[in-house]
Amino acid sequence: MKFASFYQEYLNQLAAFKLALETISYEQYTIAPEKGIPYSNKILGILSKNQFEYENNKEIITKLESYVSSLSGLEKKEVSLRLKKLLDQQSLPSSTYSEYVDLINDSMMIWHKAKSENNYDLFKPYLKQVIEKKKEVLSYSKRYNGSNLYDLCLDEYEPGMNQEKYDLFFDRIKTKLLPIIPKQAKGTHLFDKNIDITRQQQFMNILCDFLKIDFSEIRMDTTEHPFTSSFSNHDTRITTHFYEDNVMSAIFSTIHEYGHALYGLQIDDEFMDTMFYEPYCAAHESQSRLMENHIGRSTSFWKALYPKFIEVFDEFKDVSFDEFMDAICTSECSFIRTEADELTYPIHILIRYEIEKKLLNGTVDYDHLNELWNDKYEQYLGIRPENDSQGILQDIHWSSGDFGYFPSYALGSAYAAQLYHAMSKEINVDEALENGHIEVIKDWLKMNVHHYGASKSMEEIVEEVCHEPFNPDYYIDYLIDKYVSKRS
Ligand SMILES: [Zn+2]
Repeated sequence: MKFASFYQEYLNQLAAFKLALETISYEQYTIAPEKGIPYSNKILGILSKNQFEYENNKEIITKLESYVSSLSGLEKKEVSLRLKKLLDQQSLPSSTYSEYVDLINDSMMIWHKAKSENNYDLFKPYLKQVIEKKKEVLSYSKRYNGSNLYDLCLDEYEPGMNQEKYDLFFDRIKTKLLPIIPKQAKGTHLFDKNIDITRQQQFMNILCDFLKIDFSEIRMDTTEHPFTSSFSNHDTRITTHFYEDNVMSAIFSTIHEYGHALYGLQIDDEFMDTMFYEPYCAAHESQSRLMENHIGRSTSFWKALYPKFIEVFDEFKDVSFDEFMDAICTSECSFIRTEADELTYPIHILIRYEIEKKLLNGTVDYDHLNELWNDKYEQYLGIRPENDSQGILQDIHWSSGDFGYFPSYALGSAYAAQLYHAMSKEINVDEALENGHIEVIKDWLKMNVHHYGASKSMEEIVEEVCHEPFNPDYYIDYLIDKYVSKRS
């Protein structure tokens, strides 16, 4: 792509801010000594403020408004996307913005405390204030029409999505999936064994070899919560967490994070520093879940790796391959979203979606919101949380004002299922995995999905690759086949 020099310079500056901020924050999570954090936080604050002011200066917006009309093709798309973002922020008074930032800082702190003390009443007034402030912030958007607050939230995490589209999606989940969730099913206890971290790391090396992770552009560290950070399309960081009492946790979280990492690494060079280098949430989650669930929880993946798994973890040597596969593809209704299996996961999201609609549309009774949460778990999954920490207080998202984020997780899973279906018609996925040729899958993903970055929406990519529009039935049928039909 070729831009006027003023815009290229603007992109370069923003890229410099981004890399500096990303590096400092990655170090804080991984290697920075604890006592150094307050100082680097101060620097992060200064840099973020400079970045915001540089990004949103009025002069650049005026220039871009006339520049965009002289463009065509991908350049026009890039600048239009940039303007959409800048114009949404333009009318927001800086005093409202800093009030919002301060409130979020307080609210997140109180949420941590409320969660650890199991006390919804402590968090309740903050949740109320965050919602009110969020509504005020959104009302400054150029696209606010008096009644589309939640649509604006949803669009933030997956552009083009709104309540109308998500209603159709979740109706499908509700009518087809909800009735067949086996509420009585009991999960597995096969992995309830203590396994030392040294051997877990040994197997991690085998897994990385199998995934053909290229360590000349990926670095791995350990953190409390696993995540991926893309510095550039030739430098991506993945973190993992080893649990002594759950050997599969680090394995699946690494496969998941590698799905995110690979996406970032396979985006075209020419998109670096543009809006296209940053795919949105559902798009990203579709790639991590495709890798974790469709590839990492498949029979052919483990046909190749299981012999090595029992060699390293000899406590499983008497477990048959079928028992092992049953154990990694098992379902049980549980309280915590991040630990949920593939089958019940979208129901956790459905519950949050239904409550978020009420929150943003102003029809919620804050005093009994925790009860509403518990009622929905009881109604949909047949289990009732015993306290608010395993209920409404479990996720950080609402305390940080991230309304509309949850639905993109379920949508990403559904994109993954449809893309995987198309992939398996074009290449022999099982043969590639059984023979240790994962590059066949990575190349397909690069050619058909990754290299576009966000220059196309995931909805467009799905339609192009699958030769039909997005259809959630691929996801629902896949879940029923893997978790209900085969297990009954
Ligand atoms: Zn993810």
